[in-house]
Amino acid sequence: MLIFLRFTKCIVMTYLKKLLVVFLMGLFYWPMVQVAAQSSNTETVILNGKKYPVPKPWAGSRIRASEQAEFTDLVPLPTWLTQNKSQIYVTQITRQALLKMAKKAAEEDIVLLIDSGFRSAQYQAKILEKYLNQNMDYQGLLQVVAPPGYSQHMLGNSIDFVPSELDFSVSKQYAWLKQHAAKFNFIESYQQKNETGVNWEPWHWQYQSRN
Ligand SMILES: [Zn+2]
Repeated sequence: MLIFLRFTKCIVMTYLKKLLVVFLMGLFYWPMVQVAAQSSNTETVILNGKKYPVPKPWAGSRIRASEQAEFTDLVPLPTWLTQNKSQIYVTQITRQALLKMAKKAAEEDIVLLIDSGFRSAQYQAKILEKYLNQNMDYQGLLQVVAPPGYSQHMLGNSIDFVPSELDFSVSKQYAWLKQHAAKFNFIESYQQKNETGVNWEPWHWQYQSRN
C-alpha cells in the first residue's frame, strides 16, 4: 500500500512539475506571441508613391501574387453579358459556369449583366489612386473598395453584377441568384452578415470550383 501511495505521489509530483514548466514557458513566450501578432498588423500598400497601412478587415487577408489569375487563362465575356458591351475578362472555368448560369436565368426572364471581372492588383491600385486624387478619404474608401492585393477580383473568378451597389439587393436578379447561383458554384462573397468584417456586397459573387 505504502509503495503504491509513494508511486502515485511520485506521478502526481512529476505531472505538477511539468505543468509548472509549461506555465513558466507560457509566461516567457507570451510577450513574443504578442509582438509577432503586432508585427503582422503592419501590412502596407503603396498608392501614389505613398505608403498606407492596411486596416481591418483587410489586414491578414492579402492574396498571394502567385494566386493572381494567369493572363493566359483569362478570356473575355461575350458582350451581351457585359455592361455597355465593355471587355471584361474572367478565367475560362468561370466564364463557362457564368454563361451556363446567365442562360438559365434568361430562360426565366432574368437578365444578368456583368460590371466587372478580373482586376490586377495594379489596376486595383489605379482605382484607389483615382479616388484619392479626388480627395476622398482613404479609410472611407476601404469601406467599399479593397486595397490592391486584397481583392478577389485579382483571382479572375469574381464578378460584379449590375448595378454594383446596395440597390442590387432588392433586384429580381439578386433574388434569383440567392436561389440558384449555388447550383452553378457561385457564392456571394460578402453576405449581409458575414464573418470577414467586409461590408455587404450583394453584387459581388465568386465562382468556386468544387475540386
Ligand atoms: Zn466585386
